Amino acid sequence: MVASPERYFPENYRDGRSAFIEACEDGGLGVTARVHPKEQGADAKPLFMDVATIGPRDARKALLLISGTHGVEGYFGSGVQTGLLREGLAARVPEGAKIVLLHALNPYGFSWDRRVNEDNADVNRNFVNHKHPPRNEAYAALADAIAPRDISREAMKMANAKLRDYSDLHGAFALQEAISKGQYHHPDGVYFGGSRESWSAAMLKDVFGEEQFVELDKLLVIDFHTGLGESGAAEMITEDVPGTPAYARARKIWGDRVASSEAGESLSAPLTGTIDKRVSEWMERTELTFAALEVGTEPVREVFNALRKDNWLHAFGGLERPERTAIKKEMRAAFYPDAPQWKKSVWRHATEVVDAALKAIA
Ligand SMILES: [Zn+2]
Repeated sequence: MVASPERYFPENYRDGRSAFIEACEDGGLGVTARVHPKEQGADAKPLFMDVATIGPRDARKALLLISGTHGVEGYFGSGVQTGLLREGLAARVPEGAKIVLLHALNPYGFSWDRRVNEDNADVNRNFVNHKHPPRNEAYAALADAIAPRDISREAMKMANAKLRDYSDLHGAFALQEAISKGQYHHPDGVYFGGSRESWSAAMLKDVFGEEQFVELDKLLVIDFHTGLGESGAAEMITEDVPGTPAYARARKIWGDRVASSEAGESLSAPLTGTIDKRVSEWMERTELTFAALEVGTEPVREVFNALRKDNWLHAFGGLERPERTAIKKEMRAAFYPDAPQWKKSVWRHATEVVDAALKAIA
């Protein structure tokens, strides 16, 4: 039990990356850096996705820990990865297994305090056939109200009234699904899945190749997320449904925390274009157990409003706008409550699910 795990949580992307690399180097681990070919961070420096592997490369079982799929949510995942390394993760790799730590799958979003990547795309909605992306009719009907071009008090009032009407008619969860499921026809909107394969998606594929994951007998994946649920509470979100072997495995490993988004058990709506779905296609002969550890931050309304304003800033307002500082502060608060108590509880969830995963590959 660590007395003050909050010291592992970074101040920003750059600090998170340095702390991760130092923790790897102090543990004798090499780090493979993939530099973003064109984007820079908010500090005007290059962006990287970093990968470290503990254990034999040709192991038949693996645990993959991913941080920063949703950029700004990376404060949590990065802190967990560095903390685990500092707390002796390397000495706990089970015989015949390896642990792969993927730091900042979406470094652009992490650095700019955005949930999306450099294409305004949600990396966890990006894995679709971009020639024939899914349609989200409910989003299309509400697009201007979901992601307004004008965030003045008057305009927001009208937009919110439209969303309230939809919610009154179809229910609050139907509204959440319309917004967050993923959409592919409004590049200036929120939860946009992109119009092409993202750099992050291509690099994830590259890591799967390099690590020879298709050769594995067993792969466990934990993707670290924030922003959904009661502050400091946690859910292990799986897309597998009750009655399937993968769901049964997840329940056996993580117990009551497991909730299926496809079966309506989760706080999350069913989603399109997720990493989970694509990885299951890649790993047909491997026993795959994939879950997102989702920890709560602020009420869903606050989180949504932060996302709308951030979307407005980048898509319509422009980064020179005086509102920038306040909006970025809201974004951070919505995905990374910088408070010791919150950090303690999410650290505990993270270490518990990782401990359980290590047992499962032992
Ligand atoms: Zn997320």
